[in-house]
Amino acid sequence: MGKGKLIVISAPSGTGKSTIIGELMKCEQLKLEFSISATTRKPRGSEQHGVEYYFLTVEDFRQRIERDEFAEYHEVYEGRYYGTLKSEIKRITAKGKNVILDLDVMGGIDVKRIYGKKALSIFIKPPSIETLRQRLLSRATDSLDDINNRVDKAAYEISFADKFDRCVVNDVLANAIEETKAIITDFIESK
Ligand code: ADP
Ligand code: 5GP
Repeated sequence: MGKGKLIVISAPSGTGKSTIIGELMKCEQLKLEFSISATTRKPRGSEQHGVEYYFLTVEDFRQRIERDEFAEYHEVYEGRYYGTLKSEIKRITAKGKNVILDLDVMGGIDVKRIYGKKALSIFIKPPSIETLRQRLLSRATDSLDDINNRVDKAAYEISFADKFDRCVVNDVLANAIEETKAIITDFIESK
């Protein structure tokens, strides 16, 4: 079985990507470890440095760009940077594990381009934009302004879905999890 592969999951914010990733990570046979991204946004709720993200200052983030420490990075929202540290990919693959990455659409396309056959990119779609808004409202972690920004961006992001290897609609959660699991199992068992 191939080891040290990369699985990228991208979706408009609020689609259910974190929920699906959380479930995939419970599946031991997939041998997944989450790639902790760096970001300049502030921690939300109970988020901790080194768990959900490495929370960096803008200055620290800029210095790491200059030192070429990122495999990819993007200004996902105005003034808020997110990036995958090369050291994170190395840390996980060195253990013989597969890397699961939660990236915005542009980051997902970048990682697929950079890592080629070593990477599988999966796009998760919401059933509709209205459902997406409802999920963000019920999650109740973002301000109304942030929710509107995220919803406004969703249609644009969905227009890139066909640039991904696979696409899964997250309507009934259990079905989306099973479908994603099957796609990843096929990929990590292939040469
Ligand atoms: P993302 O990581 O894509 O921003 P989350 O995983 O935080 O999204 O999910 C957004 C909200 O929608 C959460 O409150 C989550 O519990 C809920 N959710 C996720 N998937 C579904 C689904 N299939 N049906 C209904 N609610 C869902
Ligand atoms: P949030 O602020 O909700 O945690 O994440 C916002 C967006 O940033 C999500 O779409 C998430 O996938 C994306 N994101 C998180 N980490 C990275 C990263 O390292 N690179 C890129 N390109 N996007 C990321």
